[in-house]
Amino acid sequence: MSKARFIIRWDDISPYQDGEKCRLLIDLFMKYNIPAVLGVIPDNRDESIKFDDRPEYEFVEELKQLEQAGWEIAQHGYRHLQQTEDGGILKLNNASEFAGRDFNSQMADIKNGKEILNEYGFDPVTFISPWHSYDKVTVTALEQNEFKVLSDGMFLYPRRIGKLMQLPQIFWSAPSRLRILDQMGSVYTICLHPQLITDDDLEFLELFFREGDSEFITASSLLDEGTKLTRRGIRKRVIEAIFSRLYRRNTR
Ligand SMILES: [Zn+2]
Repeated sequence: MSKARFIIRWDDISPYQDGEKCRLLIDLFMKYNIPAVLGVIPDNRDESIKFDDRPEYEFVEELKQLEQAGWEIAQHGYRHLQQTEDGGILKLNNASEFAGRDFNSQMADIKNGKEILNEYGFDPVTFISPWHSYDKVTVTALEQNEFKVLSDGMFLYPRRIGKLMQLPQIFWSAPSRLRILDQMGSVYTICLHPQLITDDDLEFLELFFREGDSEFITASSLLDEGTKLTRRGIRKRVIEAIFSRLYRRNTR
């Protein structure tokens, strides 16, 4: 039995992020030496997630310090603007920046976003699609932009999607029932939106960090494990089948 491991991903990171909430989260993660995967929107144009307006250099400087501390800089879409009502493969929302669009436009947006992050001095390998919406065309465009990891999916164990490693994301807060998660022995991604964090969330996270003995990692660190992580033996297949039945029952 391998113990559960956790990736904690923050979405909607940009110079316009909710600075106060982010500060509280950064301090908490630093206190327990937990790395996060930061889903950075390269050119945030989404007015609904603009809270502050920090100078770009100051924002980038902070990202660099966090990267040095072992955090990962990932790309979260391009402008975070809804382009279609296509829920993509996961069908969680009727909104997408990518799904349903032709290859050239998806390719251009992903590339433009990556170039902005490259100019900042980052080389993201993990991609997070806004509204959890991507399609097969998105995956091809990601491959061609040399992304290696897609962080998304309502399933239990990491798998391959095209040439990418797909890391499922099934939690939106610190989980309970850690024993069961240990027994299933997967890598679990928790997605946080800093702007929505409440005092209760912070308290629960702190408890999770302080009381548990869980391991916290970044998405890109799993690339070294390659096929071992995505290989699906009989045990994984059985547990995955049970999970997907329970999941469908709970979301119907
Ligand atoms: Zn987002």
